[in-house]
Amino acid sequence: MLLNRLAFILLFSFVAVALPSCTDQPKKDVSQTEIEDKEHNSKYICPMYCEGSGSQKPGDCPVCHMHYEENKDYKAPK
Ligand SMILES: [Zn+2]
Repeated sequence: MLLNRLAFILLFSFVAVALPSCTDQPKKDVSQTEIEDKEHNSKYICPMYCEGSGSQKPGDCPVCHMHYEENKDYKAPK
């Protein structure tokens, strides 16, 4: 009887801890990075993908001062 109760408590606490962390995480990160990732999504991007870099015109990265490269994956906004 005692073992059964222990097993039940263990199982219950495992489920209570595991479930919320599984269901919460996956989707949020994707939508945020797609919108704000101008280091990767701009027409011209720093080869080092520095934070705050990226532009619609050719130029130099304000962070590491390397020349921007044309982004082959760039898609013009509709
Ligand atoms: Zn840079």
